[in-house]
Amino acid sequence: MASKRILLLKPRGFCAGVVRAIDIVNIALECYGPPIYVRKEIVHNSPVVADLARRGAIFVDSVDEVPPGGRIIFSAHGVSPEVRQQATARKLRVIDATCPLVTKVHLEAVRFARLGYSIILIGHKDHDEVIGTLGEAPGQTRLVSTEEEVAGLSFPDPSRVAYLTQTTLSLDETRGIIAALRVKFPNIVGPPAQDICYATENRQLAVKTVASICDLLLVVGSANSSNSNRLVEVARNKGLPSYLIEDQQAIAMTWLEGSRTVGVTAGASAPEYLVQHVLDFLRAQGFDCLEEVETIAEDVRFALPPELEARSGATVQL
Ligand code: SF4
Repeated sequence: MASKRILLLKPRGFCAGVVRAIDIVNIALECYGPPIYVRKEIVHNSPVVADLARRGAIFVDSVDEVPPGGRIIFSAHGVSPEVRQQATARKLRVIDATCPLVTKVHLEAVRFARLGYSIILIGHKDHDEVIGTLGEAPGQTRLVSTEEEVAGLSFPDPSRVAYLTQTTLSLDETRGIIAALRVKFPNIVGPPAQDICYATENRQLAVKTVASICDLLLVVGSANSSNSNRLVEVARNKGLPSYLIEDQQAIAMTWLEGSRTVGVTAGASAPEYLVQHVLDFLRAQGFDCLEEVETIAEDVRFALPPELEARSGATVQL
C-alpha cells in the first residue's frame, strides 16, 4: 500500500511583523522588567499570548487599565490616533509594535484624507487592524467587506474616491471587490502597491500550489487570526477540505479517514513548535512520508523600534 504523506508548506507561520512584535515584548521585559503592559493581543495567537503572559507581560484591552506613567506596547495590528492621544494624556511610555506594513496603510489613509478623498477601506468589521486604520480619518472612511456592499456606496463627490485594504485579506476576494469598485467609481484611486502584505500573499499562493494534490489541508492558527482563516477559505474555494486548528488536539480523526495526502501550513502568527506537534500527531497516524514544498523564499526582517534596537544588546537598566 502506498504510504500516506504530509506536504509541509513553506513559507508558513511567523512573518516579519509577528517576529518583530514578539521580540519587542521579550526585549522590553528583559530591558525594563515587569510590569510591561500590552494593549490587546500582541499578535492573534492564543499560545503566543499565554507564553508572553507567563513571562510577565500584562495584556489589557484599553490604555485606561494602565497606571499613569506605565509602559505600554501597542500590538502588531496598530492603533488609531485616538488611542495614541489617550496614552499621551495618561503619560504612558509607549513602545509601538505596529507592523510597518500596517503603518504604511495608515499613512496612505492620512494622505488620501488630506487630499480630500472619500476613502473605502476593504476589510473585516471589528478586526483590530481595521479599527486602527478607520481611526485615521473616521469622518471620511467607509468600511466594505463584500462585493455586494459596493452597490450601496455613495459619496458626495464620486470622482474623488480612494480605496485601501486590510493587510491580511484573501487576494482573490479583494480583487473582486476592487473590480466592483472600479465599475461603480471609474476614477477611483488606490495605493501605489497593494496593501495585502507579502506574508499573506505568499502563504495563500503556497496553498493554491498544492490544492490539487492534497486530500486535506490543516491550517495551524487561532480562530481570530484573519490571515489563517483566509488560508482555509483559499483551500475550500479550490475544493480542498480544510480546517483551522489551534493545535494537534483539534484534529478530528474523521478528517483523516480516506486522506492519503495531508497539507499542513500555519498562519502568520502561529509558532513553528505547534506545527511540529501536528506533524508528530500525523506521523503517529501513519503519515510517515514528509515532503516540504517551498513556493517562494522569504527573507524579510523589520528593524526594532530605535529605543529597543539600542538596548537589545545593552546592559539591562531598571
Ligand atoms: S501578516 Fe503581514 S501585515 Fe500582519 S504582521 Fe505579518 S507582515 Fe505585518
